[in-house]
Amino acid sequence: MKQILPGLWQFDEIGTAVNCFLWEWPGGLTLIDTGMSTHAQTIIDALVQSNRPLHLVKRIVITHADPDHAGGLAQLRRATQAKVVCHAVEKEYLEHPGRRKVAALWLRLLLMPARLLPAFRLRPVTPDDLVVDGQVLPEGFIVVHTPGHSPGHISLLHREKRLLISGDALVNRGSKLGGPAGALTPDPANAQRSIWKLAKKYGDDFETVVFGHGPAILSNGGKKVKALASQIFSAEV
Ligand SMILES: [Zn+2]
Repeated sequence: MKQILPGLWQFDEIGTAVNCFLWEWPGGLTLIDTGMSTHAQTIIDALVQSNRPLHLVKRIVITHADPDHAGGLAQLRRATQAKVVCHAVEKEYLEHPGRRKVAALWLRLLLMPARLLPAFRLRPVTPDDLVVDGQVLPEGFIVVHTPGHSPGHISLLHREKRLLISGDALVNRGSKLGGPAGALTPDPANAQRSIWKLAKKYGDDFETVVFGHGPAILSNGGKKVKALASQIFSAEV
């Protein structure tokens, strides 16, 4: 596990295709996303090997119900007995993974065989706690509803730590900051509005950004997100 900030760890054991995180706070441990189903055991091993007993994991917050973020959820919940938290709108997709439109139609047809691969398996999970935009979590994060990539997608902002956990609302693949891949985003217009929201409403509140995909930005994160939004909308944020 790799420390990003005091309290925030990334499970680098699962590789770099997708990122998921551990948040340590006085109430225990919280997982933020769970990687693919094939990552669950690796995450469990990393926790145990770092002397963090599984029962200390009290909550699992899911940014959105994609197989690369919620794939390990069923197994990790069983192992930790943690409560599962997601946005109220995303509940349907955690419970009925088949209903989520992950991509444009042509790509969905193309990806159909991939759904049979273990890495893309998504077992239904019923969340315990549903959250909405602006809600403050006991972990200290403000929930920011950032729809577009998925209807109930959330990002998490910690003002004191000046930290944004973007999920897939922003990606930093190849260290290039941008929005989520168009073909994998059923509502690209809303995804762009979500970037505007992060920039305009919260752009002065964070320095560090961690992503579902790509390396963390450790400084000037808010400024960089504002610059991205200005570029997308051709307007000063
Ligand atoms: Zn993703």
